[in-house]
Amino acid sequence: MAYPNSGNRKKSLVAIVGRPNVGKSTLFNRIIGQRVAIVDDQPGVTRDSNYRPADWNGKSFTLVDTGGFFGPEEDPLTPFVQEQIELVVQDASVLVYILDAQQGPTPADAEILDFLRRQHIPLIAAVNKVDNVEKSDEVTAMFYELGLADFIPISASHGMGVGDLLDEVVQYLPDADLTPEEEEEVPKIPGIAILGRPNVGKSTLLNSLCGQPKAIVSPIAGTTRDPVDTEIVVEGKTYLLIDTAGIRRRGQMKQGLDKFSMMRCEEALRRCDAALLLIDGEEGLTERDAKVFSIANDMGKAVILLVNKWDVVEKDTNTAGAFAKKIREDLPYLKYAPIEFISAMTKQRIHRIFPHVEKILENYYRRVPTGELNRLLEDILAKNPPPVHKGRLPRIYYWTQASVAPPTFIGFVNEPSAIHFSYERYLINRLYENFDFEGTPIRLFWRKRKQRKSE
Ligand code: GDP
Ligand code: GDP
Repeated sequence: MAYPNSGNRKKSLVAIVGRPNVGKSTLFNRIIGQRVAIVDDQPGVTRDSNYRPADWNGKSFTLVDTGGFFGPEEDPLTPFVQEQIELVVQDASVLVYILDAQQGPTPADAEILDFLRRQHIPLIAAVNKVDNVEKSDEVTAMFYELGLADFIPISASHGMGVGDLLDEVVQYLPDADLTPEEEEEVPKIPGIAILGRPNVGKSTLLNSLCGQPKAIVSPIAGTTRDPVDTEIVVEGKTYLLIDTAGIRRRGQMKQGLDKFSMMRCEEALRRCDAALLLIDGEEGLTERDAKVFSIANDMGKAVILLVNKWDVVEKDTNTAGAFAKKIREDLPYLKYAPIEFISAMTKQRIHRIFPHVEKILENYYRRVPTGELNRLLEDILAKNPPPVHKGRLPRIYYWTQASVAPPTFIGFVNEPSAIHFSYERYLINRLYENFDFEGTPIRLFWRKRKQRKSE
């Protein structure tokens, strides 16, 4: 099969950059918060990713808050911080530079902008904290000395100007809706990230996968900072293995090890289609594992959970079953993820990984015809209609699959806020039951629509 996203598998990345305290995370949260709520997981799961999906005017992109990687106290001009920002920025489709109206232009702004301009990536400057609209011309005028042509006045905390800023941003992004014909034409090598905490066996697994009989392997040199990806051909299919094992060695030389490795995990996740999430079978699941895995879910990636080092686990008849049950309890938001018990070292069940990856990628790109979807919906509504919520009776008119990777559905309703979270989850579960979406998250959005006379 073809994997349509190939060319833009990395959804366009929009990076928010700026000195500390200019309001980057306020803006980030505001943009993210403007999305229609969706969720296929439990309420209250911490969302601490600095990369989040966003959309505006029908274009979807990934938004990254570069400030989110550091504390507000950290100076963006220190080499460490610079290096991290550079890493993100080199991948971006659009850069949004945030200035602070209350402080005016600073030498640090001039320096960072000088760097950003040299990236030859569309650069949009916004002046934040313009809380008084009448003064916006006066305020932005202060910034012309920075040598940029235009500044968009915004107030991230009030939301003023954010729409204008997004209008400008999405002008630089490709159209989201490729027609199916166009999709087929894009050649594609799916990216597979290998993720897990230090010592879980990532390098060993990479070696074992590459050492399989009939695997043809060619390392792809990255930039100096990127880990080396590996192209591997198995059974005539090509995959790009995105390895994060190098993270630890590089990180150790530096301060901020944990933030750094989290950031690299996020970066690997962003670049991949599917992730192999490793769990240490001897030690069990840790909180850090859960955190990284929840980010995979947030980013909407296909995943397989691999319980590694199964060779050294003492087993009786139900050890794997009990282990799986515990994982299901601890990771309720990943209930769609298949679990395999492997040994990267002895290569036990390693040969099953690529066939499994192939299957979940197929599901990740699965498109369900609208007719089929609505036959299912009719059936659901007949048996179990949505209950009255907040004093309103929700009417769901129809739904349709808006996109793949991950499968994303839009339901048209009289009043989106009338759909209770648990009913939404119920619908998502019906999708999992009726179509093969194993290994992939599902998104469900609601759009308000007036009822047509004919209905
Ligand atoms: P970051 O370090 O760039 O991510 O900045 P934050 O988003 O943490 O914001 C720094 C401070 O600026 C916080 O106290 C925010 O409440 C404040 N802030 C952010 N946006 C605005 C705004 O539009 N107007 C005003 N007056 N304050 C803002
Ligand atoms: P990474 O830090 O995630 O890349 O982990 P490594 O691949 O370097 O492995 C860490 C340690 O775990 C090494 O000593 C490996 O030999 C060991 N290891 C990795 N996979 C397995 C496995 O399946 N079984 C056993 N017994 N040990 C393993």
